[in-house]
Amino acid sequence: MEKNDLKNDLKRAIYPGSFDPVTYGHIDIAQRSLKIFDEIVIAIGDNRNKKPLFTKERRLAQITEIFADNPAVRVMAFDGLLVDFARSLNIFTVIRGLRAVSDFDYEFQLSCFNRRLEPRLESFFMMTSEKYFYISSNMIRLANDMNGDISDFVPPNVLADLRAMRQ
Ligand code: ADP
Repeated sequence: MEKNDLKNDLKRAIYPGSFDPVTYGHIDIAQRSLKIFDEIVIAIGDNRNKKPLFTKERRLAQITEIFADNPAVRVMAFDGLLVDFARSLNIFTVIRGLRAVSDFDYEFQLSCFNRRLEPRLESFFMMTSEKYFYISSNMIRLANDMNGDISDFVPPNVLADLRAMRQ
């Protein structure tokens, strides 16, 4: 292969999640994944097991603002199955983050299931940074409901939206 042939062969991946709300843990995975991939699509979906806090449109606006200066990051919302979204973009690599052993069971099952539905789909797992391993959207929601200081865990635009939701 000629060296020039490699130029257009951009490595792309989808980083899906509910990001409700997006945290520095998610952002860290997205940024570090760009050491491996040329472009990523942060794909905002709804997890049926979780009742949404922010609408998808709000999450889309929040995350788009966070990555506004980074042309390698595209932010999109999707409905339905991830495999169908992946097919629509023709991107068959999915990034997921792992925090603890407890994430492993679910992620393992999900990646096997997705690959069964779409054999071209591969999941790519990245370990959390030690700085963020204990951060989850759930914890942030709980702390926010109880007026906790969550400014170390979410970016300023998300913090402002969360504070506005407090009673
Ligand atoms: P989902 O509802 O699809 O699990 P989440 O928004 O909760 O979506 O998480 C999206 C992905 O980001 C998951 O792979 C999750 O394990 C990962 N993730 C969430 N928080 C962190 C964190 N603090 N460090 C690393 N990965 C994380």
